[in-house]
Amino acid sequence: MRYISTRGQAPALDFTQAMMTGLARDGGLYVPETVPQMRGGEIAALAGLPYEQVCLQVIRPFVGGDFTDGDLSRLIGAAYAGFDHVARAPLVQLAPNHFLLELFHGRTLAFKDFAMSLLGQLMQAALERSGRRITIVGATSGDTGSAAIDAFRGLANVDVFILFPHGRVSEVQRRQMTTPAEDNVHALAVDGDFDTCQARLKDMFNDHAFRDEVGLAGVNSINWARIVAQIVYYFTAAVSLGAPHRRVSFTVPTGNFGDIFAGHIARAMGLPVDRLVIATNQNDILHRVLSHGEYATRAVAPSISPSMDIQVSSNFERILFEAMGRDSAALAQRMEGLVQGRGFVLDPGELDFLRTKFASGSASEAETIAAIAAVHAETGQLVCPHTAVGIHVARQRLGHVPMVTLATAHPAKFPDAVERATGIRPPLPPHMADLYERPERVTRVANDLAALQAIVREQRRA
Ligand SMILES: *Cc1c(COP(=O)(O)O)cnc(C)c1O
Repeated sequence: MRYISTRGQAPALDFTQAMMTGLARDGGLYVPETVPQMRGGEIAALAGLPYEQVCLQVIRPFVGGDFTDGDLSRLIGAAYAGFDHVARAPLVQLAPNHFLLELFHGRTLAFKDFAMSLLGQLMQAALERSGRRITIVGATSGDTGSAAIDAFRGLANVDVFILFPHGRVSEVQRRQMTTPAEDNVHALAVDGDFDTCQARLKDMFNDHAFRDEVGLAGVNSINWARIVAQIVYYFTAAVSLGAPHRRVSFTVPTGNFGDIFAGHIARAMGLPVDRLVIATNQNDILHRVLSHGEYATRAVAPSISPSMDIQVSSNFERILFEAMGRDSAALAQRMEGLVQGRGFVLDPGELDFLRTKFASGSASEAETIAAIAAVHAETGQLVCPHTAVGIHVARQRLGHVPMVTLATAHPAKFPDAVERATGIRPPLPPHMADLYERPERVTRVANDLAALQAIVREQRRA
């Protein structure tokens, strides 16, 4: 299996190389040259298997010959052993023909754990082979950072630095990043917002001398290995509901377009997915582009579903690459314009392509709160605000085909919004019950590239 860059100017790589590289050197994103196919009989044979075995079947063709089946099984087992539900991604029913796929049973209570914990195992295995060490630096609005720290804490060949905006993540998110005691974990509170953190991160990657000096590696949502891990739960959910004999639809709370792109790949592999519905909060650039064809960024408006407060949706480049007939030169030109603050208008053919693949909707703040309250009143269940955005959008599209809404975080990760809607403050699960008592360790940093680089050089265990 070979991976090519969407911008066409970086070398094709195998799976391990694409995983270790993250962002291509030409600024593009790696995509598989061809999507592997699963026949109906192979999909039917997944019914009733444990999550880990479905994972092996689904990801094996993407990994190619990089790992043996035995190694891959062992790494998958280690990745999901810390989850607190045996099904890993259980499906619960919300209403007639409407289901919730609970993706928050990992160690840091958001769906990011599915990808990050597997990425941690695969990267460590690749590093042990090569004898290399790496320095992972990531920027987060909250959930990616906590999942990355949990996945890489204590690993011998890895230091992990996470940049988060000082004062702008929830207390649970901050404590998940600042309380791990392992000395390879470094939480950095940056003076600025999430876009600032992401900009400094890009600067570090673009400083090629620094990149090579510290062995910089990225784990943000454009890393292809993360997408691969997320394909798996589309298969387990659809098969539970009757695939390949019955079609299934999904509604996905969306920010960087990583999770829903995984659903798109599952469908391209042969899973009978009827509709893939993009659900956005008030930061609704993706809903607007599907509605009018104009990709125009605005300022981010902070919301009660902060993990989706995004304007430039990084993985959207992957679907745009397909919509544009894999014309990497034209794509590169558009993305360049975006960096310079210009939006773009899709051609009618491109817009048609996207509309045949996706539907979309958005939820305002009031609609999000109302959805949390309604679900609680009807079922007794508490849902997080991101999940509520999905539920609000999905409800307008219920019909004969089973609809699965992805529950992307545990309600206890966003207790203020849940309490506002229901009057109930959801408790943390037992393994995190003492989170508020654990000592915190964090370095406050100015919004300054040189200062950040100095901290990485000084704190990493060379
Ligand atoms: C990251 C995140 C999202 C958005 O996922 P994308 O892959 O960026 O579209 C939604 N909900 C929660 C809770 C998240 O952490």
